Amino acid sequence: MIAVETALERVLAGLRPLAGESVALPQALGRVLAADLAARVSHPPLAVSSMDGWAVRAADVAAVPARLAVAGTSAAGHPFAGTVRTGQAVRIFTGAPLPDGADAVARQEDCRAEGGAVTVTVGIPPGKFVRPAGLDFAVGDVLLTAGTVMDPRRIGLAAAMNIPWLPVRRRPRVAVLSTGDEIRMPGEPLAPAQIPGSNGPALAALIEASGGLPMIVGIASDTAESLAGLIAAAEGADLLVISGGASVGDYDMVAPALAEAGMALDFWKVAMRPGKPLMCGRLRGTPVLGLPGNPVAALVCATLFLVPMLRTLAGLALYDGDTTAILGRDLPANDDRQDYLRSSLERRPDGTLVATPFAKQDSAVLSGLAAADALVVRPPHAPAAKAGESVTVLPLAGI
Ligand code: AMP
Ligand code: MG
Repeated sequence: MIAVETALERVLAGLRPLAGESVALPQALGRVLAADLAARVSHPPLAVSSMDGWAVRAADVAAVPARLAVAGTSAAGHPFAGTVRTGQAVRIFTGAPLPDGADAVARQEDCRAEGGAVTVTVGIPPGKFVRPAGLDFAVGDVLLTAGTVMDPRRIGLAAAMNIPWLPVRRRPRVAVLSTGDEIRMPGEPLAPAQIPGSNGPALAALIEASGGLPMIVGIASDTAESLAGLIAAAEGADLLVISGGASVGDYDMVAPALAEAGMALDFWKVAMRPGKPLMCGRLRGTPVLGLPGNPVAALVCATLFLVPMLRTLAGLALYDGDTTAILGRDLPANDDRQDYLRSSLERRPDGTLVATPFAKQDSAVLSGLAAADALVVRPPHAPAAKAGESVTVLPLAGI
């Protein structure tokens, strides 16, 4: 058995972010930038008005009321071609370029227009209601950096930077293989000893949520032939994830089948609960992660190991969601395996975060994992703990 930290290091060793690809702006949602992005334009490109009104020379309206001759119009996309001279004003609208000669805008509500003239009734300093060129950003400014996850706001910013196609990391293709003679597709008619497989759909969803492209390649039965056939389906994937069959029972055929397929095994057992039988290796260069079959163990191990693998492949920093909370109940001393206890997490009115591990911690109790807000982390050989003591928790909501 190796420690969780060692297992994580070894799982991630040798994993590099995948190459970049180019996607159109709207498709970049949730994707990770593969390169820094510099603005191709300044925004705004010219000084523009932030109000509807008249572009003036501030010196002309130092004393008000000031009557100015209207020399023309500047609308958004249609600048005034001339120059505003002393005693003149140009009708201007929001977003329209400030004409040469003008240095401020008098708001419409502070003016009276009469025929070819306008009377400005409120004094305005230079620069008033003008957005200078480059107020937002200047051409060449690096505003989005490699590793950034694109969200709607950042997609808007990239568009404003005049970049229609974005370099993003390719999404990792993950083959998901379930194993077990008793496992059927959810919804299939079930014989008495059969159960719906929950690992495939849950892992696929976790992979999707972590930026990967899951492909459920199937459910292998516990025979060398069946496993060999489906392990071959991993061809072309960036990562193969297998659940079940990883213990040492007579029907645990996954390790021999992977060895037969040519996998170089790195390690097989991790000192944690749930989930001791965690397998890691490489099959012709493709990383393989063998998860325990028990659904809770599979998902806890996937959260701890698969998600970091996907984040590394996607060029993302590892998610560091650990926090501390007050224990809501007494806990016995721990043995040599690191425990991940399914727990509720509540914030008391005084602000303290309280984690209360559920009474039932069986690694087959999926309803408990689904109901949990967090995992309380109990290091190996942790002494008995009393309610009120501080513990490390891993909130599940962000994962
Ligand atoms: P195994 O690792 O194959 O010995 O499986 C351990 C336990 O997990 C057994 O009770 C299996 O029935 C169960 N199990 C294995 N795979 C799945 C799956 N895909 N969905 C739900 N339960 C599973
Ligand atoms: Mg099995």
